[in-house]
Formats: sequence, C-alpha cells, structure tokens
Amino acid sequence: VAARLTSAGLLRTKGLIGANWTDARDGKTMPVYNPSTGEVIADVPFMGSKDTEDAISSAYDAFPAWSKLTATERSQLLRKWYDLLMANKEEIGQLITLEQGKPLKEAIGEVNYGASFIEYFAEEAKRIYGDIIPPTLNDRRILVLKQPIGVIAAITPWNFPLAMITRKVGPALACGCTAVIKPSELTPFTALAAVELALQAGIPPGVLNVVMGDAPAIGDALMANTRVRKITFTGSTAVGKKLMAGAAGTVKKLGSKFRNSGQTCVCANRILVQDGIYDKFAAAFSKAVQILQVGDGFSEGASQGPLINDAAIEKVESFVEDAVSKGADVLLGGKRHSLGRTFYEPTVLGNISSDMIVSREEVFGPVAPLMRFKTEEEAISIANDTNAGLAAYIFTTNVQRSWRVTEALEYGLVGVNEGVISTEVAPFGGVKQSGLGREGSKYGMDEYLEMKYVCLGDM
Ligand code: ADP
Repeated sequence: VAARLTSAGLLRTKGLIGANWTDARDGKTMPVYNPSTGEVIADVPFMGSKDTEDAISSAYDAFPAWSKLTATERSQLLRKWYDLLMANKEEIGQLITLEQGKPLKEAIGEVNYGASFIEYFAEEAKRIYGDIIPPTLNDRRILVLKQPIGVIAAITPWNFPLAMITRKVGPALACGCTAVIKPSELTPFTALAAVELALQAGIPPGVLNVVMGDAPAIGDALMANTRVRKITFTGSTAVGKKLMAGAAGTVKKLGSKFRNSGQTCVCANRILVQDGIYDKFAAAFSKAVQILQVGDGFSEGASQGPLINDAAIEKVESFVEDAVSKGADVLLGGKRHSLGRTFYEPTVLGNISSDMIVSREEVFGPVAPLMRFKTEEEAISIANDTNAGLAAYIFTTNVQRSWRVTEALEYGLVGVNEGVISTEVAPFGGVKQSGLGREGSKYGMDEYLEMKYVCLGDM
C-alpha cells in the first residue's frame, strides 16, 4: 500500500478526538479497500455512539475558546491550514486516488478545489458583519449580531473525500464553530490527513474531531445530542431524509446536499439533444467518449478510474439492462470493462425515453443517456420532470433562449455553455429533493451563524 504513496507521513489510521488519535472504545475495526485493486489499505476504528459522544464533548469544550478568538486569529490559522494542504497536495492526492480510485491528476485537482474553500473562508472570517436597523420608536436602537451556532456535525460522502469536508468545515471554523466530522467509511484517510494538517497549522485540538464506523449509530448519536446545533450532510436523499427526521427531535439547523447522479453529484444524468442535430451529436459525442482511457488512478494517462464498489457497478449494470430492454441503443460501451472488478466501459446510450430508470434515477457511473427533443418547451418539461434539482447545463448560441431556459429550469445551479461551474466563490446547492441550503460563497457562511436581535431601550 505504502508503495503507492511517495511518503506515508500523512496516513493516519485512527479517529481524532481532541488531540488524540483514538481507537473505538470497544476496539472494533473495519478494513478500507482500494477500489481499483480490492486490496485492504489499512484498518480503521469502527466507532459507535459512545465514541461519538466523546467527539461531541471534545468539540463542545473547544467551542468557547475557539469562538472567542478574534476573526483575524481564526483567519490566520485557516490560512496556515490552506498553505499546508497546498504544500502536501501530491500526497493528499495520492491518498484520494488510493481510497477513492479517481485518476491522480483529478485527485490533485480535488485538493486544489478542496483547499480553495479553506482559503476563501479564511478571508470571509473577517467579514461576518451584523446589521443596524432604523428603529420604529425614537428611544430605541435595533441591532443584529451574528454569532456562531456552536458544535456542528458534518457527514460526508466518498466521491470528493476532501472537498466535501472543507466546504463544510471551512465556513464553520471561520464563523467560530467547532466540528465533529464523519467521513464516508469508504474514504476516511483523506479526512484524517486533512485534520492532521489542521493540527499542524495550529488549529487547537477539539476544534476538529473525526469519527467513523457504524454510520447509523454515529448519525443517531449526533442527532440525539442537544449540544450539536447543526448537521450538515452530503449524500443520498434517503439518508438525508432520515437525518432531517432525526434532527427534528432536537430542532437542529440542517444543511443538506443530496447527491443525485454520477460519481459526481453535478454530472449530467440525462443529455437532451434537439432532434435536428441528434444524429450528428450522438456520433461526435460517442467518438469523444471513446478516447477516455480507463485504468487504475495511478497509471499514466488514465482518465477514468474504477467505480467505488460492487454495489455501484451492479447498479450501473441493472440501469443499462433496463434501458436496453425498453429500447435504448448502446452507442458505445454498455458493459463491464475488460480490466474487471469495478471498472465499467464509458457508455453512451441513445434513444432514451422517460420510462427508463436511467432517465429518472441517478446513474451513478460512466453512462451518458441521450434523449431526443423537438421544442424548447418540451426540453424544459423533460428537464424539470424529476424530484432532483441540483445542476442543469444548457448549450445554445441564442442569447434570448439561454435566459428563457435558465429562468425556467428548476435547478439550484445552471451552466450556460459551460459544464464545469463549481467554485468556492459561488453558492452551491439544489432545489426540490436535492437539498437544503447552500455551500460556498458569502451565502455559505449564514448556515453556521445565528442571528441575535438586540433592542436597546431608553436611549
Ligand atoms: P453515498 O452513496 O454517496 O455514500 P450515503 O447517503 O449512503 O451516500 O452516504 C453519505 C454519508 O452518510 C456517508 O458518510 C455515510 O456513512 C453516511 N450515512 C449513511 N447512513 C447513515 C445514517 N443512517 N446516519 C448517518 N449517516 C449515515
């Protein structure tokens, strides 16, 4: 395993509670696999509710001192953390490839992207402004203060093992909150390396804590505990709904992003192509996809790694089978890759109709389903006919159409003639069942702040 890493200096294999790298209280462990080879990378603790309680206490105890630092002090510590993430981007990238499978170049790209949230919110820490409101009575003064909400819990998925965490804890720490992080059990090492660097940067022990193991037990412990004031979650809609229900018991603030497609949640789940250019597009698109090289993330030139596990590839297989049985054309791929295991051929499916599962549910793999439409109205109606609503992309040279369609799309993000739109300076989040709240940008700060209305009388 270590052979894949140029240095094992950031490989941590325990949870973090306060300053201590910690085993599960009952000593249980679980293996973490390299999805490309199936090898065990290392065992990590299989933690449960007691360990989670310990982590919450640690975050709770760290809160008063952390929240009382000046904004400048917090900003400087976050900036140091950012610098260390960037200085170690090769090694963190290797950890991402090792446990998640994406090609190394993409993994290092994620480190740049993930670290950018820490840099951005280090700067925003200094701009948590309150408000002064003109009073309705002459002898009064009305102020609004913004204060950190307290301990937050961040539950994150495996598709972006670093960025999903930094996007949550960046603003949280900037506001003065402390955190319990529960990374995906499939990808804990990136999270552990990131918090190790946070400690090295001088962020006090207890401000960040990491537990992993029995996800439902950890989730229940986080939700039941009144000290946890907010849960922020990225993952499936099913788990998101469970957390929303659980958070109601203690009236926690909730920020959720529900993944809806692909190994990247903003992947195009369906590609709608106008009838007149459909054939030409399908041919050119398939040709472009054909060039994609499938392989181990560490191998030179690989642009597509393995799927995360067996369940993922079985799901892709069953979706493709369903589509083909209902009349879809396989324009490219359509089966497991000769590399075996969880490698799947880049696939293009044509003539997709709305009765096929691929047109309604997350494909969760390298499958591009093409649907034909005739009119703009029809395209909008197909696009909006879903419970998901995270990201949509339109390609047109018609300025009026780009505005009309953008306004009509029921999505949280819209890319116009652009497919790569995530950035730390813009608000990211979905509508409908794709989520609550926004991450990134100045709007991402509000999620971690409470407002306090102060009325001064007898002035
Ligand atoms: P994904 O398929 O993207 O991993 P999930 O919703 O299954 O989506 O997982 C996202 C995160 O939610 C992971 O960290 C996972 O361990 C966690 N999780 C899964 N089930 C629960 C649960 N019942 N309570 C709390 N967290 C959970």
